[in-house]
Amino acid sequence: MTVIVRFAPSPTGYIHIGNARTALFNWLYAMQNGGQFVLRFDDTDVERSRQEYADATLYDLHWLGIFPDQVKYQSQRFDIYAAAVEKLKAKGLLYPCYETEEELELRRKIRRSRKLPPVYGREALSLTEEEKAAFEAEGRKPHWRFLLPNYATDPLKPRSTKVSWVDIIKGKQTVDLASLSDPVLVREDGTYLYTLPSVVDDIDLGITHVMRGDDHVTNTGVQIEIFKALDAEPPVFGHHNLLTTASGEGLSKRSGALSIGGLREDGVEPMSIASLAVLHGTSENVVACHNMAELAQHFDPATVSKSSAKFDPDELVTLNKTVLHGMSFADAQDRLGAHGVSGDRAEEFWLAVRGNLDRLQDAAGWWRIVRNGPAEAEPLSEEDTEFLRTAFDLLPDEPWDKNTWKAWTAAVRESTGRKGKQLFTPLRRAITGRDSGPELADLLPLIGRESMLARRP
Ligand code: GLU
Repeated sequence: MTVIVRFAPSPTGYIHIGNARTALFNWLYAMQNGGQFVLRFDDTDVERSRQEYADATLYDLHWLGIFPDQVKYQSQRFDIYAAAVEKLKAKGLLYPCYETEEELELRRKIRRSRKLPPVYGREALSLTEEEKAAFEAEGRKPHWRFLLPNYATDPLKPRSTKVSWVDIIKGKQTVDLASLSDPVLVREDGTYLYTLPSVVDDIDLGITHVMRGDDHVTNTGVQIEIFKALDAEPPVFGHHNLLTTASGEGLSKRSGALSIGGLREDGVEPMSIASLAVLHGTSENVVACHNMAELAQHFDPATVSKSSAKFDPDELVTLNKTVLHGMSFADAQDRLGAHGVSGDRAEEFWLAVRGNLDRLQDAAGWWRIVRNGPAEAEPLSEEDTEFLRTAFDLLPDEPWDKNTWKAWTAAVRESTGRKGKQLFTPLRRAITGRDSGPELADLLPLIGRESMLARRP
């Protein structure tokens, strides 16, 4: 059996790192099993869905390293949902209800006051044909509910009915259908809620594994019954914990917080995001993986924690440094070129600076320092000026290599008597204008003698 997974965002905003977690779980699972990945846009809500968000989602997924085998839009598949609706109606499993929201709220209040669970009491099942016709004549349109199989023979006498599945992330899960209202599948205006189209698509596209956030556990209990009602075998389910902010708030597409596009603009590398999104909230250590194959080796659905996973965006900064430190020139080359870093010294330069970067674009600043010197000359004490002049006068002739720095500073130490910080801090400042940065032994051959002499105070 070929594993087929899907990621099913609604295109109502830009995807964030929590959505990336779901997408990556599915992508890595498909990778591990030689499977396929379907991107399905849940855009039945035509008011809130926008093509611009779907396009941005696809762009973000590609940028992260996820390349869907198929892309589907629910808005283009209404006819198969209509066929499923007819099938459920024919089986007597989808029934029309005419209550308004106010009437339903009143009923819930009454049930609560009688200490009954505030679920729908299936009053519409008792409507006669005349009563229905009267509602229609009044101009009311029905919404349609799925009859949950939580009764023996009389739906008006629901009883505890447990639906269980072995969740590949959470282990055995159970939902009691007696605790739920019959879900509305079709609204008064004929539009679909998420519940039915999702099942119909999962059947039609041959989805074998559904991995999604654990806010969908209850839906799964209901959807398993809809699969069965449509004569289909339910897929394997897995529900992962959700990423939350450090203060415990959920991430939302609407707030735009921690969106993939925003993180990209901040210079966070895709593999930093992917490493965190997948490994945080699991018993695995969060390590910076350099590519998807490496991340797939660390990913195991069974290691995901049961509780929500608070995360601190500062972790991304740390991961980003590690990802950049291990990034080959081949992987960085195009983007470096876009920042003006190119030519036959570009690789040597990249290898010298990559271990000192928070963001790839910061390499451009070091490139300017190497080529043109520090942006501003530091004010120097008279003693340091004197020291630096002596030091620069001792610069050896070219050719220079990685040993030049050692030989030069040994000669400076010998001649000036300075050592340690006293020796190195003024040299580093004069050469780079900064107090820390890449190894000067690596930078010196890139700078060259002429450019070094131009830095003599
Ligand atoms: N559109 C749903 C969501 O974003 C999909 C849930 C699912 O994977 O079935 O929550």
